[in-house]
Amino acid sequence: MKQQINERSFKDPVCGMEVSRTTAVDEFEYQGKTYYFCAGACREAFELEPEKYIRQHRQHGFRKM
Ligand SMILES: [Zn+2]
Repeated sequence: MKQQINERSFKDPVCGMEVSRTTAVDEFEYQGKTYYFCAGACREAFELEPEKYIRQHRQHGFRKM
């Protein structure tokens, strides 16, 4: 019998790539939440300015480019 592994995927907040616990190269905990990254460079960028990447989820309709 084949067992489906329910692997959760996470979004690398820096580059937007989908990673999972097994594919993530690096992880970083910030404010009680663990973020996963596709590369060490992404983690470093996040570590420097976590707020910048977390706040990329803008509210709809308020900003027009
Ligand atoms: Zn990345």
